[in-house]
Amino acid sequence: MNSGIQKVLVIGGGFAGMTAALQLSRNDLSVDLVEIDPQWRSYGAGISLHGSTLRVLKQLGLIERFLEEGYATDGVQMRGPDDSVIVNLPTPRVAGPELPGGGAIMRPALAKILSEAVRASSTNVRLGLTFTDLREDADGVSVTFSNGSEGRYDAVVGADGLYSAVRAKVFPDAPKPRFIGQSVWRAVLPKPEGVDTVSMWMGPKLKVGMNRVTEDTVYLFLTEDRATNDFVAPETFVPRLRALLESFPSPIIRKVASELSSEHQIVYRPLEQMLMPRPWSSGRVVLIGDAVHATTPHLAAGACIGIEDAMVLAEELAVGTDLKAALAAFEERRYDRCRMVVENSGRLADIEIHGGSREEHASIMQDSMRTLAGAI
Ligand SMILES: Cc1cc2nc3c(=O)[nH]c(=O)nc-3n(C[C@H](O)[C@H](O)[C@H](O)COP(=O)(O)OP(=O)(O)OC[C@H]3O[C@@H](n4cnc5c(N)ncnc54)[C@H](O)[C@@H]3O)c2cc1C
Repeated sequence: MNSGIQKVLVIGGGFAGMTAALQLSRNDLSVDLVEIDPQWRSYGAGISLHGSTLRVLKQLGLIERFLEEGYATDGVQMRGPDDSVIVNLPTPRVAGPELPGGGAIMRPALAKILSEAVRASSTNVRLGLTFTDLREDADGVSVTFSNGSEGRYDAVVGADGLYSAVRAKVFPDAPKPRFIGQSVWRAVLPKPEGVDTVSMWMGPKLKVGMNRVTEDTVYLFLTEDRATNDFVAPETFVPRLRALLESFPSPIIRKVASELSSEHQIVYRPLEQMLMPRPWSSGRVVLIGDAVHATTPHLAAGACIGIEDAMVLAEELAVGTDLKAALAAFEERRYDRCRMVVENSGRLADIEIHGGSREEHASIMQDSMRTLAGAI
């Protein structure tokens, strides 16, 4: 039984789309994946993964590859602007007693692990391609691609990210991504002495975090409140990020600031969010990942919930008796969890932007992490 569908098109080959293609093809569906980027690239920053994402990677048989390329640790250490520890937040070992409760990896490394698995599956990967038209009728969806070719599918999965063209086509009235008044700086550095697990330093308004992406490397992030999302010239990245880091009295952060250079892969990004109200599907077209719930990174869980969407969708399509019911069951299992991530991340951002209560901040982090550790 598989909801009566045989052939699926996944549009977008990010973490959500790759996971969907992989799991759907492993469930014996015929899957085409189209990705607009001819090089199928992922930019060079680190990404933190909750235990719940490690749980999915284990289910996909990819956890060994993750442990080869990334790094797993237990706990999150919240510190004041100096190095004093305010609270240690536990990260439950949800992927099994043998695996730490969280981890991190460079994005290109995670993309490589997933794309290799997709390539090794029966998925038909087509790069440098997108759709130009989707036309649904009673029996399926006819798709026209940007190279003029045509395809016919039983279902279409829109996994094309924050600025989803599938969302724009199928849900023209969906909310637009919104700048939240905060930006994030990221860099990749040698692991500083004294940073062994995820560590965050809470300044009055700025927050710095570090997470190990390998044995001897961390990625650093710094959130900065900003009234506008104006362009910031890359040649100013080093002095700007250094000045922000120097506002912390922490000796660990000050040392990082003094050694910061253009070699440290600095990335600057204004933060946006978008949560689409239900429904998340229309007829035979369903949205997953950032296309439907783009969160700010305050809980480091955007990729996590996109990857989970893909797993739940594949499961519901496999066990469901008809497509409509399967898509309804998918949405029912996903909506509250994803809304929690977007809304709680937004609240954390507000607290940081306005210099609000540290206690509320820590308590939202802890509650959200506990919820994310629950079964999906
Ligand atoms: C600053 C920052 C830090 C973050 N840190 C974390 C973190 O630590 N942990 C975490 O879990 N999450 C984090 N996230 C969130 C995470 O990056 C996203 O939620 C995740 O990448 C979304 O995956 P996706 O596959 O849904 O979309 P995307 O990663 O955006 O992938 C979409 C894919 O579709 C392709 N595409 C786009 N348009 C088309 C089209 N028209 N046709 C075909 N293909 C198309 C794109 O090229 C891309 O490959 C962070 C986000 C930000 C902004």
